[in-house]
Amino acid sequence: MPRECKGCKGPHDEFAFHPGVCKAGNRHGLWTQRHDAFQMSLHAALQRLGAHVVSCSSGSGNWFGTAGCRPDGKGYKRADIVGVNKYAVGRHLFIDTAIADPNAGAARSAVPSAAEAAGVAAELRASKKVAKYAPLAGAVSSHFMAAVVERYGACCDSLVGLLKLYTGDGERDPTVCDDWTTFATSSTTYLASRVVFTAVVADACMVERVLSIDVAGAAMASAMPAHARAYARPAGPRCAFERPSASVVEGRGGIMWYESM
Ligand SMILES: [Zn+2]
Repeated sequence: MPRECKGCKGPHDEFAFHPGVCKAGNRHGLWTQRHDAFQMSLHAALQRLGAHVVSCSSGSGNWFGTAGCRPDGKGYKRADIVGVNKYAVGRHLFIDTAIADPNAGAARSAVPSAAEAAGVAAELRASKKVAKYAPLAGAVSSHFMAAVVERYGACCDSLVGLLKLYTGDGERDPTVCDDWTTFATSSTTYLASRVVFTAVVADACMVERVLSIDVAGAAMASAMPAHARAYARPAGPRCAFERPSASVVEGRGGIMWYESM
């Protein structure tokens, strides 16, 4: 008997395909947190390489100028990351990140289908982002690149190009990089493995949270202390899962693994 998705009331499947294409998939900020993990990973990895990048999705002002202002006057459009002065003074590289799902209807019905080729869903999402952001970047004499990865790790072409743009052909220097390993000696492999692994793990985390909410939701709520539930109540259920108690994080039900030994 398949478990019911508490978002759309549809059935879950045994391979966790459903949370990626659910019509209510972003309840409790599930997709947003997955996206943000990928964005932060790419931002941190580029910084690690010495690039001057800024997270511009919130709190860093309007980088697109008048072109970015919304017609209704409510705020402005933002990309996720900006490579400051990447091409020249005042000519930046804007990056917008996303995690796409090859099980989505548009990707499966595309030619070639996402069922036959890897990266189809990522390319579809990337083309939408280019249509949205490239004119905005062009209005401020800058450039835009989409950074889209699929749930299972396939990257869009422009993400591959973006990684190569920042790393070049060089090898990492083991005398300089304190996280150098023999598994990723080239800068490109290092950067790609970092961001793709983050995306895949963030997706696994999203699946774990979906199952915790839909299958073990009652147990999580009962394990949450009263003050946490009281805090969460005015802001809705999303807050309840963003601020879990220590017992929820370390041991569902409040019993730590070492306490049973
Ligand atoms: Zn659903």
